[in-house]
Amino acid sequence: MKEREMTSENPKSEVESRKSRAAAGSSRSTPDSSALRPSLVSWNITRQCNLACAHCYRDARELPDSGELTTAEGMQLIEETARVGFRVFVLSGGEPLMRADLCELIAAARDLGLRPVLGSNGTLITKKAAEKMRDAGLARAGISLDSVDPGYHNRLRGSPTAWQGPACVPALPSGCPSRSTRL
Ligand code: SF4
Repeated sequence: MKEREMTSENPKSEVESRKSRAAAGSSRSTPDSSALRPSLVSWNITRQCNLACAHCYRDARELPDSGELTTAEGMQLIEETARVGFRVFVLSGGEPLMRADLCELIAAARDLGLRPVLGSNGTLITKKAAEKMRDAGLARAGISLDSVDPGYHNRLRGSPTAWQGPACVPALPSGCPSRSTRL
């Protein structure tokens, strides 16, 4: 869908309209089908990343791919995800904080009843960024750590300062986002 088709002169109407379409789809579910339905969907919102990890399976790069979904296409994906009954919506990458519309996408997921979760390398999560994501509706954040040894983590992450991101996470405001790590 083209960007201008999703733009509304009345943003509230657009949100209400997305909610109605998602609710209409959810109401078609049956108990049997919901028992089998996966609850989580993960969208790599960009291939762009500020790190260069030796183990990156995303072939991440400094610039975004030309084929990445636009904000409007992302909104449509979120709406479809809610409509089929998923509950958790993971926004990952690449590094999701490299996308300027991240909070917009988080808010759209929240507004449609999804639980927005962030998958990040943590390096760009300043206090201000954390507060913005919290206010947009972020429910949880997962920060990747490769080791409890900062030097080892930095070597694997291809950056002498990669550890500084995850290390600042305890300073995040209480209540959101919480930490989770992969060791
Ligand atoms: S932080 Fe993630 S996306 Fe970025 S280079 Fe490392 S593994 Fe790839």
